Amino acid sequence: MSTAPAPDVIVIGAGLVGTATALALAEAGARVTLVEGAFAGSGSTGAAMGHLVVMDDSPAQLALTAHSRRRWHALAETLPPDAEQDRCGTLWIAADDAELQGAADRIAGYGRAGVHAELLTAAQLQREEPALRHGLAGALLVRDDAVCYPPTIARELLRLAVALGAVAHAPSRVQSIAAGRVTLASGEVLQAGAIVVAAGVESPSLVPGLPIVPRRGHLVITDRRPGTVHHQLVELGYLHSAHSFGGASVAFNVQPRRNGQLLIGSSRELVGTNPTINRPLVHAMLARATEYLPAIAQLRALRTWVGFRPATADKLPLIGPWPAIPGVWIAAGHEGLGITMAPGTADLIVAGLLGTTPPVDPAPFRPDRAMPSLEVAA
Ligand SMILES: Cc1cc2nc3c(=O)[nH]c(=O)nc-3n(C[C@H](O)[C@H](O)[C@H](O)COP(=O)(O)OP(=O)(O)OC[C@H]3O[C@@H](n4cnc5c(N)ncnc54)[C@H](O)[C@@H]3O)c2cc1C
Repeated sequence: MSTAPAPDVIVIGAGLVGTATALALAEAGARVTLVEGAFAGSGSTGAAMGHLVVMDDSPAQLALTAHSRRRWHALAETLPPDAEQDRCGTLWIAADDAELQGAADRIAGYGRAGVHAELLTAAQLQREEPALRHGLAGALLVRDDAVCYPPTIARELLRLAVALGAVAHAPSRVQSIAAGRVTLASGEVLQAGAIVVAAGVESPSLVPGLPIVPRRGHLVITDRRPGTVHHQLVELGYLHSAHSFGGASVAFNVQPRRNGQLLIGSSRELVGTNPTINRPLVHAMLARATEYLPAIAQLRALRTWVGFRPATADKLPLIGPWPAIPGVWIAAGHEGLGITMAPGTADLIVAGLLGTTPPVDPAPFRPDRAMPSLEVAA
């Protein structure tokens, strides 16, 4: 039950996190102003793969991704076709028996979060994905995971928020924030009871001390070869690559797009916001992908790009109030799960601002929690 009157809120950033939050706040009756420095989906959201995936690196991550995936399934009913949301499922590929056993051990945990997962034998995996190389041990199939096209969805969520009365300032950069005040680069000052910072990797420039670092990733998109793969394919070793903050890493991660293109990832490295393509790393990423999916050698790479995951050292996003600046809330730091977690993040912000029951325990996401240093996290 609501215990507070609907507030007036400024949301900074129109990535998927900011637009989902603006829409959820508008739906809850808040008066919302959204300020975006470029255009909706222009940040990490526009560079992402769009895998909507339940992940279980920690109980908190499992709870928020599982809740968010349920919200994505409901959203799918209302989004336009160019959102390209397809429930293709994820196949977590086990290269050997040890990886398969590790996958089997995770099924019960998924089940407790209401997520169905099942183990496939090597023969079943070959039937599901004949293009994979022979000799793999099997896979964990999470059928209800999905893929989508994030920049279109960010635009659509913003459109829906505006239709409910939200006011959008874009392009318009925020210069600085203070309690109840947002100063734009133009010099204009906006005032509101609450400010939600959803500026992705740029959030620390507005909130000094926010523990977010950019983690660069490359993606390659191929020409069209419909039917090559049917699920989002990820090697189980991806979990290690995503979890570890060591040196540069790559993992096999391939997504079938609706038009028959393949989106190939993934890489991770800490190089600030350097936008240069790291060709040796892309080469290693494609070599890894071809190892699992030899058919990739027959495809043409049309484009390669980089994006920046807003990473935290403990691999959980920052969602909640920032006590150093009264009235300021953070919705940022989702690393490689910001598309997936956007609806759940929006729900947590709404619950916090309106005093309603949160969908999952918000405590693990408190922005002011103790955070390991990146050196320790590695
Ligand atoms: C290669 C790659 C692949 C990925 N794949 C996936 C995936 O498959 N699934 C998944 O769930 N996640 C994925 N991610 C992660 C995902 O992209 C991010 O976690 C997510 O996009 C973060 O969204 P956001 O809204 O917080 O940030 P952003 O999308 O970066 O949005 C922030 C917005 O704030 C604006 N802004 C910044 N500063 C200001 C300012 N001062 N004033 C006004 N506006 C400002 C920016 O212009 C931007 O539009 C991937 C990321 C990368 C790089």
